[in-house]
Amino acid sequence: MSDTPTTPATPIGLDDRVGVLAGVGAKARADLADAFGIETVRDLLEHYPRRYQDAGEVLDLSEVRTGEPATLIGEVLDWNTRRVPKRGQRRPLEIAEGRVRQASGRVFTATFFNQNWRAGQLAPGTVAAFSGKVKRFRNDLQLASPDVEVIGKVAAGLDADAAAERLRHQRLLAVYPATEAWPSFKLARLVEAALERLPAVPDWLPERLLDELDLVAYDDAIRGIHVPPDHATRTAARRRLVFDELFALQLGVQRRRAQLEAEVVGVDNTPVPNGRAQQFLDALPFPPTGAQQRAFTELAQDLGVRRPMHRLLQGDVGSGKTIVAVWTLLNAVDNGRQAALMVPTEVLAEQHFRTLTTLLAPLGVNVLDGLRVELLTSSTTTKARRRILGELLSGDVDLIVGTHALLEEGVRFADLGAVVIDEQHRFGVAQRVRLKEKAGGPTLDPDAPDVLPDVLVMTATPIPRSLALTLYGDLDVTVLDELPPGREPITTQLITPTQAARRDRLYAFVREQAAEGRRAYVVCPLVEPGELPARDVTTEHRRLAEEVFPDLTVELIHGRLRPDAKDAAMTRFRSGQAQVLVATTVIEVGVDVPEATIMVIEDAERFGISQLHQLRGRVGRGGGASYCVLFAGWSGAELPEVTMQRLEAVAATTDGFLLAETDLDLRGAGVLFGRTQSGKKSDIKLAHLRRDRPLIEETRTRARAVVAEDPDLAAPEHRSLRDEVARRFEGRGVEVVEEDGDELAAFAALETG
Ligand code: ADP
Ligand code: MG
Repeated sequence: MSDTPTTPATPIGLDDRVGVLAGVGAKARADLADAFGIETVRDLLEHYPRRYQDAGEVLDLSEVRTGEPATLIGEVLDWNTRRVPKRGQRRPLEIAEGRVRQASGRVFTATFFNQNWRAGQLAPGTVAAFSGKVKRFRNDLQLASPDVEVIGKVAAGLDADAAAERLRHQRLLAVYPATEAWPSFKLARLVEAALERLPAVPDWLPERLLDELDLVAYDDAIRGIHVPPDHATRTAARRRLVFDELFALQLGVQRRRAQLEAEVVGVDNTPVPNGRAQQFLDALPFPPTGAQQRAFTELAQDLGVRRPMHRLLQGDVGSGKTIVAVWTLLNAVDNGRQAALMVPTEVLAEQHFRTLTTLLAPLGVNVLDGLRVELLTSSTTTKARRRILGELLSGDVDLIVGTHALLEEGVRFADLGAVVIDEQHRFGVAQRVRLKEKAGGPTLDPDAPDVLPDVLVMTATPIPRSLALTLYGDLDVTVLDELPPGREPITTQLITPTQAARRDRLYAFVREQAAEGRRAYVVCPLVEPGELPARDVTTEHRRLAEEVFPDLTVELIHGRLRPDAKDAAMTRFRSGQAQVLVATTVIEVGVDVPEATIMVIEDAERFGISQLHQLRGRVGRGGGASYCVLFAGWSGAELPEVTMQRLEAVAATTDGFLLAETDLDLRGAGVLFGRTQSGKKSDIKLAHLRRDRPLIEETRTRARAVVAEDPDLAAPEHRSLRDEVARRFEGRGVEVVEEDGDELAAFAALETG
């Protein structure tokens, strides 16, 4: 078979299978692929160290000076454990002393106190690095309570002396994500074997760019990240490799956008003087905020050119995005076109429909000569649906509000000019492409380019700038960074089971507020009991209705209810017939009931920061001083430190952007991963959202400039860029996930192909 080891001198290439490396047979190949997704030499070299053991002070005993810090490497010979009674203490002190032999043959003692498990962790035959202060005790050299980094086991084939000897030259020891069969030292050996046989890799970046940005060559980087002689080399190597990941990604995103836009034309939705968009603003009972004003100005520029707008409107809950949305839609109508408002849920669609008809009432809605506004969701009756579809196609309907049902086949517009997508960030290039079929009526000219409506995507999820720049590489961003005046402050309280009396006080307070016409939400994580140790809305609804608030009307809403039941519950809560609404997170986005002033969140530890922030945003909407109460720890779930920090952060501020940054910090992550469509990780392996923000900005600017000049990357000097982008990202999306694999937020940024 092809496992025959080639002679060591044979050069290898990045795209060779790892089987070309000596000693990597069928079993090893399968293990490497399963455990790490390593199939090729490139995969192996992109299996980057998790961290480095700083062996900067690796010394031999002969060089050690008493009282100074040192790192000593050696093989554990044996252990001596004993207990020493401690005066005044019931428990004796446990002392574990391990004798460790260095490559030179000299032996030192590593001493641990009350850590007898070390004897098990570091069984005889284990090779490890011990870092600490050196003491001389009688004739013996000792390291007391040293930091330990296990390097491997002699029994597993590790040559302790060679490992130690290598470290003496290398100083920084790469520590790899490892498994039992493939411990870090074994991976390190394989990486080194590969690097030895790999001829210098040509660079895909032009030398001019490297000089300008002070980046090291790729070949130096790939070697420097694995076998760094010092910290500076390692840092420079990492910076170069992160640059590659981000630059290729940004090139891909920008290029994809340029391609899409080359194939389509936009429509001219220039604001019309004294049109309905203007009349709408004039009729509002309040002046636009400065931020809304700035948004109108930015949007007007996009609307006025025949390049399809693709803009993200980011604004915290309550910042007044709806006004901006309606204004955008009306500009299309003013230009004789149709407009659509798309939302993720039916509840939200109905609410938006109601808001729209109210806001637009001064202009006349669904009356003779007025605007024609319709609602289309999956619970629209067949008959109504047929009528609406007909009127969309004939151009009779001006504005349509709906769920993603609007993107379904069979929905065709006479002339769709603008689409606003609310509370939704997964609207990437692929979805835009689908709008192409919706936009224009039938054309006679088959060579006419496709028409794409202007698209405005809105989100209340505060996205740290680094994230927005990466994931929304193909979007322009407008931020509503100012709340309308007169916003009611929200007081947030965190209540743990040690403060049980506060629950009763809260219920009394809800009753008081209800007497004054105010309302309360109670949110639970589950729909029905049993799935997790957490409250469910079904039980909680019964409990509140029967035991706690028999004198009030308590409604229930969750995603599994029939649409008409949901609607009825919302209507009763909105009108004040019901004072308490028990809900799942279906109310997380967009729901707007101004009289609701209390938000109670049960088992708040089950929710993430941004979810809690969203939920809290349902109150404080003009109905008076508002309150958010977070119950945590009531279902017996443990509250780890980081969870408490999360909850305390939410209690401490209502600033969504601050919370988003805190969230990234607490997750310790902000790790950016690429995913192929098949779920396999792609080539974003090193880039970090917080730490690498300067590079994110730099690569975006650079990529934009390159693509603006040469959208197809066809020029000879861009050939290698094009190849690299294709190799890395063809057919892949990118998302952000937490280090433990949970989604932080997933946005398809690059749906190529
Ligand atoms: P969100 O950005 O969360 O979607 P909305 O558009 O629902 O916010 O606006 C929240 C509330 O603020 C609504 O009741 C809306 O009428 C009101 N509002 C919007 N803009 C202004 C403004 N410029 N001045 C005063 N109130 C405003
Ligand atoms: Mg909204």
